Amino acid sequence: MADIPYFISLDEALEITREVGVELETEKTSLDEAHNRILAEDLISKVDDPPFDNSAMDGFAMIYEDTLNPPTTLEIIAEVQAAHHENLPSVSTGQATRVMTGAPIPPGANSILQIEKCEVIGGRVKLLEQSKPNFIRKQGENLKKGETILKSGEYLTPEKIGLCATIGYPTVEVFKPLKIAIISTGDELKSPGDELNPGEIYESNSYGLAGLVKSIGHTPVRMNSMADNLGDLRQAFNQAAEGCDIIITSGGVSMGEYDLVRSIMETEGQIKFWRIRIRPGSPPLFGLWNNTPIFGLPGNPVSSHIVFRMLVAPWIRGLTNSIDHLEKRIKVKLTTKVKSTKDCLTLRRISIEASENGFIGHQKIHQGSGNLASLTHSDALTLLQPGQSAEPGDWIDAILY
Ligand code: AMP
Ligand code: MG
Repeated sequence: MADIPYFISLDEALEITREVGVELETEKTSLDEAHNRILAEDLISKVDDPPFDNSAMDGFAMIYEDTLNPPTTLEIIAEVQAAHHENLPSVSTGQATRVMTGAPIPPGANSILQIEKCEVIGGRVKLLEQSKPNFIRKQGENLKKGETILKSGEYLTPEKIGLCATIGYPTVEVFKPLKIAIISTGDELKSPGDELNPGEIYESNSYGLAGLVKSIGHTPVRMNSMADNLGDLRQAFNQAAEGCDIIITSGGVSMGEYDLVRSIMETEGQIKFWRIRIRPGSPPLFGLWNNTPIFGLPGNPVSSHIVFRMLVAPWIRGLTNSIDHLEKRIKVKLTTKVKSTKDCLTLRRISIEASENGFIGHQKIHQGSGNLASLTHSDALTLLQPGQSAEPGDWIDAILY
């Protein structure tokens, strides 16, 4: 272990992970199947949006200059619905055309008055106010044909899926999800629902990690949890390396005698670094098992979750050149003291409220790294630099979940 980077900063660790790549394949998908997929092509708009000038309101279209001294009465010459495009009647001075929302603007008209401000009397309309030029949505005012609208690497959120349709794409090229093996280790672990003997606990990390993998658009392969046994671990790692693109383990990477993930990686794998300066979550290791990238996460449930977010997720997102997807960094004003550590980036769990003066945060819950409820009952992680003091009234950086 002598020359392996040891207890390094998160940034150094991220840099080392980026030296390892994984090739992703791509495939076409329909928009119906595109939710949370990662775009693998730039999308160039096939149309102007809107494609033609149209009415933003249900009302009447007319010449603005006719309406300067309300009330004004105009002759109704026609009615135009959305999708009606042929032979639009031309509007001359003294005339108005009934238009529905989204309907094309008849030639000659340059403004709209919404129906609530109009009184129809037989074949005429009385306008109670001046008409509004800005109620016309201009061709191309949102997006122009030929513009790059979405970039490779973007996650297809519901809004972006809608935008794909707006710009004319029924299918899009996306990355095939990576298969990510998740292996929990520990003699004490039982599946939830099984009978617990003295000294045993329910295994939870693999479920949380599988959720995190899905949330960043990939496919978790949750394997059976392993006892602390070299032979079983070797077999599980071989099987995972065979069938999956990446391996994530939890447990067994600390200094103890039974921390066999660390020791088997030392003797039979290739370790690229061990331990990072974040708390909670300092024990992880990263390396290769049969050329497959492997992250050994700590067993404490909060730690495994935080290390995934801070170390594993940024690397995986980087593989598809994806913009930060899980991370929303904010400034928070503390109302309680939060303890940092001397030599680590400290990630405490705090609750956030919005106030007139920005976000306010307080630490309300027991911060033990075994206390998964500290994550579920809070909103953000502090980003306290080593030694940074964090007293009531201080503004600090945090990451929203
Ligand atoms: P380890 O990293 O193996 O030393 O485990 C640290 C702590 O996390 C111990 O208290 C373990 O019992 C607990 N732990 C390890 N793996 C899991 C798991 N998959 N689910 C829940 N707790 C775990
Ligand atoms: Mg263990």
